[in-house]
Amino acid sequence: MIDYNLRMKNLAVILAAGSGERLRGSLPKQFLEIAGRSLLEICLERFRDHNGIDGILLVAPVDRLAMAEKVVAAGPFPKVIKVLPGGRTRQESSAIGIAAAPEEVENVLVHDAARALVPAEVITRVLEALAYSQAVMPVLPVSDTTVRVDAAGAAIAVLDRARLRRVQTPQGFKLEIIRQAHARAHAEGCSDAGDDCSLVLRFALAPVATVAGDPSNIKITYPQDLQIAEAILGGNR
Ligand code: C5P
Repeated sequence: MIDYNLRMKNLAVILAAGSGERLRGSLPKQFLEIAGRSLLEICLERFRDHNGIDGILLVAPVDRLAMAEKVVAAGPFPKVIKVLPGGRTRQESSAIGIAAAPEEVENVLVHDAARALVPAEVITRVLEALAYSQAVMPVLPVSDTTVRVDAAGAAIAVLDRARLRRVQTPQGFKLEIIRQAHARAHAEGCSDAGDDCSLVLRFALAPVATVAGDPSNIKITYPQDLQIAEAILGGNR
């Protein structure tokens, strides 16, 4: 007999409902291709092929649901439980995905489809950290000098970069914590969080652990990022 609870312990929510305005062109960036495959397909593969991930909820643009479903069918990506229509902001799309998580899920990994190249090791580190944390984010050190500027853009302070980190996804949560975070955000009218750990931090719901991210886990945002992604992919295969 299949233990359904165990099968659905770790759920990935893949956010692919952005319009990709910064990348020009008519297609949202997750449908653009590198090396002959769409970013969405590459991203779904990373989670399908990770044996710690039991199920995937894909959040797609309202007006491109059929296109997303086609990518899922072609994969094939049998771990995808559902393709959901996204919201107007990343935070709304994330809330939609989390609300659809089956009750038996213990850990949720929320991931930006724009980080299509996420290495398996990063997913593993996030899952491992959830054994002892309620919320976790993959991070990278900051190698450049980093300053705070005033409203006019003049530098006013140098930050201690030893204490700064660049944040990536997937971010991992106990289901209950991330549900609470989105409920608070909704109640307080906050809808513009750029990531999910920032909600947990904003409402001080739990300590947020960090694990090592990966430089290849770039967020494909601008046209030149597609070339960088192609080079990273070429180097991996
Ligand atoms: O726009 P940004 O690069 O911050 O988007 C991060 C991720 O969130 C992308 O993978 C994008 O597809 C997703 N997103 C979403 N719903 C929105 C806006 C962004 O799922 N309304």
